[in-house]
Amino acid sequence: MEKDCLFCKIIANEIPCYKIYEDDSWLAFLDINPINLGHTLIIPKIHKDDLFGLDEKTLRSVGSILQRIALAIKTGVGADGINIGMNNGKEAGQLIPHAHIHVIPRFASDGFESWHGKNDYQPEDFKQTLKKISKEKF
Ligand code: AMP
Ligand code: ZN
Repeated sequence: MEKDCLFCKIIANEIPCYKIYEDDSWLAFLDINPINLGHTLIIPKIHKDDLFGLDEKTLRSVGSILQRIALAIKTGVGADGINIGMNNGKEAGQLIPHAHIHVIPRFASDGFESWHGKNDYQPEDFKQTLKKISKEKF
């Protein structure tokens, strides 16, 4: 548990939450400022700032619950679609530095803008980018 971490306090039951799922490694609860009702956060029980701190075992275990939680939300609130996202780093919009995955129910008429990219790059830009990423170890 990280001192002064809001999500660690939720895990420790020091702060209440609307819990929808829990196992040994993960806790899922409703986001208190939802894009739409049903917006859920899935957080690792071990404190890590973001995606990059998570260990292999924890990462693997989220694979088996992500789809089930997303489907329960989609069916439960009757959503038309689901966005899954994770902000890593404050420049990427991360406000709470305890890793978390957003599962967001979407409705045809909810008016929420999904992010859209720019379409003003050339083939050379993509080739250079591919080179930069490919030289990294996977
Ligand atoms: P992020 O911007 O990715 O760090 O998202 C943090 C999310 O945590 C936001 O969507 C907040 O609405 C949500 N949040 C903050 N405090 C609480 C809380 N006490 N219970 C549930 N969700 C919270
Ligand atoms: Zn924490």
